[in-house]
Amino acid sequence: MLVGYQSAAHAADAPPSLPQGIRPYRELYKNWDGAIVAAELWSYDVRNAQEVVTLANWAHANGWTIRARGYRHGWSPLTVAEGTPATAKVLLLNTTKHMDSCYMHGTTVVAQAGISMNSLVRHIADRKHGFTNMPAPGDVTVAGVLAVNGHGTALPARGEKRQQCATYGSLSNTVHALTAVVWDEASGKYTLKTFQRTDPEIGPFLTSMGRAFLTEVQLQTNPMEHYRCRTWTHISVRDLFAAPEKAGYWSLSSMIDRVGRVGLIWYTFTDKPWIQQWEVARRRPLVSRPTITPYNFPFADRLPSPVPELLGQVVAGNQHIAPAFGKAVYATTATSLTTTLARDMWARPTTSSTS
Ligand SMILES: Cc1cc2nc3c(=O)[nH]c(=O)nc-3n(C[C@H](O)[C@H](O)[C@H](O)COP(=O)(O)OP(=O)(O)OC[C@H]3O[C@@H](n4cnc5c(N)ncnc54)[C@H](O)[C@@H]3O)c2cc1C
Repeated sequence: MLVGYQSAAHAADAPPSLPQGIRPYRELYKNWDGAIVAAELWSYDVRNAQEVVTLANWAHANGWTIRARGYRHGWSPLTVAEGTPATAKVLLLNTTKHMDSCYMHGTTVVAQAGISMNSLVRHIADRKHGFTNMPAPGDVTVAGVLAVNGHGTALPARGEKRQQCATYGSLSNTVHALTAVVWDEASGKYTLKTFQRTDPEIGPFLTSMGRAFLTEVQLQTNPMEHYRCRTWTHISVRDLFAAPEKAGYWSLSSMIDRVGRVGLIWYTFTDKPWIQQWEVARRRPLVSRPTITPYNFPFADRLPSPVPELLGQVVAGNQHIAPAFGKAVYATTATSLTTTLARDMWARPTTSSTS
């Protein structure tokens, strides 16, 4: 819920002595699954990096805390914890409204912290580039993803030849340089500092868990690849996680050796995970359904009844529902993969997640 700028600015409990032109508002903080809800906290749509610095120095002088907030598309109480009261001296800086541009620089992309992965990947895909690896959802900010060392799946297959300038690992592993707000001893103030990947001090900023404020990042991109995505739901965990001496064709380690990029979703109280495998395939295999759009597992985003109802009951504390929930979501996945022709697809990674 938003409270109008005028009333917020004049509220008795408004953040004190704010720098000129900063007009915060109150907003209910609610994360993706609604498990973290905090009373209407003071929030502000920060306009640029210099404003973040100004507000860091203001917060330091006035006993307040600033926290970066992206799309709140997570589960962890990193930005604020459940039940944070409206009186908390915390100002949330929403980066998604104004700090959301990017541009290519050679084979790297320079992005402001609040750009969504959807926009970022679309921008580089238009220039025939991509990332080897990124989280499944695209409505997350690049800085929010870096804060948690966000990942998709990106190991090279055995014998795979790395493309020129390509890299593997989490998105944090693609960082060439980043700019963060840091404390400057000499001036006794917060200021902006750009760290290169070769600088040992960059380490904590690559996975800061939100205890830093990034304003801009420069990431390595790869030339665009084509992938074949295959999924299975009939392999048991005994075969998948077999000991090395018993590992067969369907063991996770064999799959990683064969294709490198493998994801597993193992629903609670079931024994056959949803296996997703992405294989570099420059030509479309005849049996693969072509797709050029992202989000090819719509059922995973909009779970059909009764899955959401069961999930709601589990979240509400009825843990005894968990086995029924696991079985329902497994059955939904197995059926939907078949009915939506999503068991074997061939795609360019045009945006976040062909998953
Ligand atoms: C349904 C679902 C599926 C997901 N799938 C994946 C997945 O496949 N792979 C994966 O890796 N993750 C996945 N995630 C997790 C997601 O990537 C993280 O929760 C991510 O942090 C969300 O980004 P956000 O922009 O919403 O950040 P927010 O939730 O708003 O913030 C998360 C953290 O990032 C910090 N932060 C935000 N902006 C900045 C900044 N400018 N500087 C420093 N810190 C900042 C915040 O302070 C906070 O600590 C998933 C989450 C959900 C809900």
